[in-house]
Amino acid sequence: MTAIGVFCGARTGNQPWLLEVARDFGARLAHRGHSLVYGGGSLGLMGALADGALAESGEVIGVIPESMVAKERAHRGATAMHVVQTMAERKQRMMQLSDAYCTLPGGVGTLDELFEVVTAVQLGFENAPIGLLNVRGYFDPLIAMLDRMLEFELVGPATRERVIVEREAEAILDRLG
Ligand code: AMP
Repeated sequence: MTAIGVFCGARTGNQPWLLEVARDFGARLAHRGHSLVYGGGSLGLMGALADGALAESGEVIGVIPESMVAKERAHRGATAMHVVQTMAERKQRMMQLSDAYCTLPGGVGTLDELFEVVTAVQLGFENAPIGLLNVRGYFDPLIAMLDRMLEFELVGPATRERVIVEREAEAILDRLG
């Protein structure tokens, strides 16, 4: 069993298909016998992700700062909920608990979490695969930015190659598990 740390939006967004993408990803991850490590909320895409995993009887581990328990409505159905003190601690704890990572569509918090892990890989503190679910091309501009960094030699090939990109959930899970 692999514990997969998933980063995704705390909001729902305005694209009706996004919720289904998150729910479906959680369900597929759990169906494969992986456990989900995530931000612990019950709202938005994060909530749908956890609901999808729970619907498949998956293990769901939330990591949420105390100050966000009310705001992000800590998920009552989670198998375990780690309540930490700060946002920095949340990222640290998620990294301690995860064997691999996957990023789903989200906003700036999602990107903060993604780059926390990418920079940890760059510095050699982390050695796990990092997936980017590029559903409907959502992350195309971000991938283009990473490729620009590589072109300008501002990021090394080893770090760039660590970010695995797939458009389909099954394809990315195949490469993370
Ligand atoms: P967003 O993509 O902005 O909807 O945020 C997704 C999740 O990332 C939410 O649960 C935020 O609370 C969380 N988040 C935002 N900033 C940080 C941070 N600096 N460290 C850890 N988590 C964060």
